[in-house]
Amino acid sequence: MNYFRKSIHEMSGYVPGEQPALGTQVIKLNSNENPYPPSPKALKVLQEIDPEILRRYPDPTATNFRIAASEVLGVPRDWIIAGNGSDDLLNLIVRAVGEPGKQVVCPAPTYVLYRTLAEIQEADFLEISYPEDYQLPVDLLIAAQGAVTFVAAPNSPSGTAISVADLERLAKELSGILVIDEAYIDFAEENALELTKKYSNVIVLRTLSKGYSLAGLRLGFGIANPALIAELNKVKDSYNIDAIAYLVAAAAIADREHKTANAEKIKASREKLAVSFKELGFAVWPSQTNFLLVRPPNGDAERLYQTLKQQGILIRYFNQPRLEDKLRITVGTEEQNQILVKTLKEIL
Ligand SMILES: *Cc1c(COP(=O)(O)O)cnc(C)c1O
Repeated sequence: MNYFRKSIHEMSGYVPGEQPALGTQVIKLNSNENPYPPSPKALKVLQEIDPEILRRYPDPTATNFRIAASEVLGVPRDWIIAGNGSDDLLNLIVRAVGEPGKQVVCPAPTYVLYRTLAEIQEADFLEISYPEDYQLPVDLLIAAQGAVTFVAAPNSPSGTAISVADLERLAKELSGILVIDEAYIDFAEENALELTKKYSNVIVLRTLSKGYSLAGLRLGFGIANPALIAELNKVKDSYNIDAIAYLVAAAAIADREHKTANAEKIKASREKLAVSFKELGFAVWPSQTNFLLVRPPNGDAERLYQTLKQQGILIRYFNQPRLEDKLRITVGTEEQNQILVKTLKEIL
């Protein structure tokens, strides 16, 4: 079949975590979704949606959402761009910057979508290995001088924190764009938002998918200086956010108490779960996210993944260099975590 560009025909395509049909009896710990419901204030907005908004086109720049985000973050509204999930913004950035001969760079292992997007765009792609302790390889990233450098902070699938001091050194020394993908920031100790004010090449990406329990709504956003945002606005779909999404998201981001209370519960569960894994002989990486990267005692991660799946517990296995003996497990509710630990004890 030769209908497509060679690069598209030859690439393998991004594979998201499995999504079993709603109602399937399964404990789903494979996609880092939040186990708790979204803000009741956001759900109330959803229930009271005026059908008239469905007849009209939505606001192209999701102003309602940007106003709400601006108040929460203390950042002017024209420093914010909304996306159909932060994946949309990652895509926009690569489309706006990437082309053959321009290099997309990231430390690895990390979020696989960065590679996929570079391949679609036929940009050159360079991965720089994280050392075993997952400290950011700053000097090598600086030496690579990517047209775009992606850093997931905290990183996935390792869950490890990235120091803001390291990110600042990168921002200062890179001549290209530095994308700081803060998808898991709601579970972390520090964030890099200040760097957007100090460096014109920095964009910070956030999402409502993890911290706000709204993965199905598809709402992510970027923060950067207005000149950078203006270039991205040229590339985005005119109506990249639907009207329901930005109205619900505006209410969700304004409800800080709800988000913080859930994040605190998840962080406490994460620490308990880490202790349980260590007691079972797993190696556990220090996490500042809502998931744990673990290595089973015998390193047979793929079999353990399959066995858990048969017992109705979905976790994530990556058949990739450095990850083939490890598992990524989303922190669930206390009850889900207890079932997971009990099941593991039985299997091992
Ligand atoms: C989940 C995730 C995203 C995507 O988030 P959406 O807003 O749901 O598109 C982006 N980056 C990383 C590292 C993620 O884990």
